[in-house]
Amino acid sequence: MMKRNTDELWNEASRGEPESPLFDSNDVDVAVVIGTGPAGATLALELARAGQRVVLFEAGPWIDPASFINDDRAAFEQMSWTDPREATGTWQLARDFPGSPAWMGKLVGGTANLWTGLTPRFKAHELRASETYGRIPDSTLIDWPIGLNDLENGYDQAERAVGATHRQGRPPLPANNNYKVVANGAARIGYTHYATGPYAVNAEPYDCRPATIQDGFASQGDKQRSKWTPLVSEIPRALASGLVDLRTRCHVTRITLGANGRADGVVFADADGILHRQRARFISVACNAIETARLLLLSSTAGHQNGLANGSDQVGRNYMRHTSGVIYAEFEQPVHMYRGEPMAGLIADESRHDPSRGFVGGYYFEMISQGLASFSQFNEPGGWGVEFASRMEAYTRTSALWICGEDLPQATNRVTLSDSATDALGLPVPVVHYDDHSNDIAMRMHAYDRAEELFSAVGAVRITTAPPLPSGHNLGTARMSLDAESGVVDPYGRAHEVDNLFISDGSVFPTSGAANPTLTIMSLVYRQAAHIIGALRSGEL
Ligand SMILES: Cc1cc2nc3c(=O)[nH]c(=O)nc-3n(C[C@H](O)[C@H](O)[C@H](O)COP(=O)(O)OP(=O)(O)OC[C@H]3O[C@@H](n4cnc5c(N)ncnc54)[C@H](O)[C@@H]3O)c2cc1C
Repeated sequence: MMKRNTDELWNEASRGEPESPLFDSNDVDVAVVIGTGPAGATLALELARAGQRVVLFEAGPWIDPASFINDDRAAFEQMSWTDPREATGTWQLARDFPGSPAWMGKLVGGTANLWTGLTPRFKAHELRASETYGRIPDSTLIDWPIGLNDLENGYDQAERAVGATHRQGRPPLPANNNYKVVANGAARIGYTHYATGPYAVNAEPYDCRPATIQDGFASQGDKQRSKWTPLVSEIPRALASGLVDLRTRCHVTRITLGANGRADGVVFADADGILHRQRARFISVACNAIETARLLLLSSTAGHQNGLANGSDQVGRNYMRHTSGVIYAEFEQPVHMYRGEPMAGLIADESRHDPSRGFVGGYYFEMISQGLASFSQFNEPGGWGVEFASRMEAYTRTSALWICGEDLPQATNRVTLSDSATDALGLPVPVVHYDDHSNDIAMRMHAYDRAEELFSAVGAVRITTAPPLPSGHNLGTARMSLDAESGVVDPYGRAHEVDNLFISDGSVFPTSGAANPTLTIMSLVYRQAAHIIGALRSGEL
């Protein structure tokens, strides 16, 4: 069969930024989905495939991948959510980055334009954390009200959607230099579960996207489109359906309720800050855990004085972001860690639950490579002097690993609204409070020690550790529960207190597991979409 040029396929799939609005603001039969990241885009496309009209809101702009900038700082400014936030608590981010505790995208396709693409699945015991780990002081640990079997179908769908390597017959990516160093060290200390994926960047052309050219840019956006993001996959398909009305640069400021207690629409600010209203039959919030909690809290109204769907006082609580940290190892010979896909590799040996290590839950080691600007910014925030400079000079000879481990939910780790600071729209900014649990600290110290062994085994001449980066994984602020007292949504992400309001992002995670979250977020969305479509067809929604 004649091979088709991937650019031709992209041009066919993408109609670019559409004319909007397609649907009337008073149309009470549209679905409103807020957020165009993996969660919102996946839901919008599934609903459109079932014939449902959707108004899809995105606070950020449409950016064509060809305009992504291959430069750390400029790309950060181009794509990131830079609206003010506040960090409090004893986590180091409150000291090092008090106005920017989390890293999120603000553009069509969401944070997946910045993501690197590792797609591990949860393990069965991670959904039964309370049962498996027992009572842990100071943690609000609960079990998920669903099991791994409820996620498996969605995992398969999500892996097909993102084109995860190593899965369903797709080939792995080749090893880059950083991976070769790390895999060699892993073998020498007896690890056996390591590979260059699963990873949502094409090793060979797949689904209208070309194979990676290994240019090393992912968190700066991928100009080539070899990396999966909804911007190059779900969004163009959703727009081509003619059933999805994408409203870019439209920031939803409030969800409104009708007299019957059901959600009846949203208020949003357009690019000029002018407020408008959009009616809806039902609403999905997919703004990423911090902004999702903020929007619910901003939507307080009669009967929901503490925030929408917050009778349980659980909205904003149990914020999780994964136990993390970075380990840098310097060698005598060049490594050039920045060449090739930046996170293509993980070691799974420590992801098991084994309390003999002094903590519950597990963690992954994942490849990480940073551009020089990020390397200097995060290696030792505020670092200075001769020793620090010598580490910067060793950039080309440095290899690095990132820790991604389960952190425990705590009621006091929470997103609230500032009572003094506001954003450009005059809305209270979110305050993100976080204290490490003693389990998180024990896990991180274990990971630092094991990484030191690993890098020493392959001849590292200097090993240093760095604190967690601003959080790319934001979870747990509207958790799922069977009963309305201990959570915000039911096992389908439907608010206990507002039955046509759905939460579709990682806010619903009762626990974080050790796995990077996006594949699980998408798996839950496929499950939610099937539930919504069933409810629409039966007339229940
Ligand atoms: C550098 C980096 C690397 C990462 N690597 C990985 C990885 O390897 N594997 C993995 O699984 N995960 C990774 N992640 C995390 C991953 O990107 C997120 O889990 C994922 O994008 C979450 O999807 P989402 O749709 O819930 O939210 P997002 O992708 O954040 O999308 C939310 C969207 O909602 C919009 N929005 C928010 N509030 C409003 C509002 N009020 N009105 C209108 N729009 C709004 C935002 O602008 C945004 O576009 C990484 C993250 C970062 C930062």
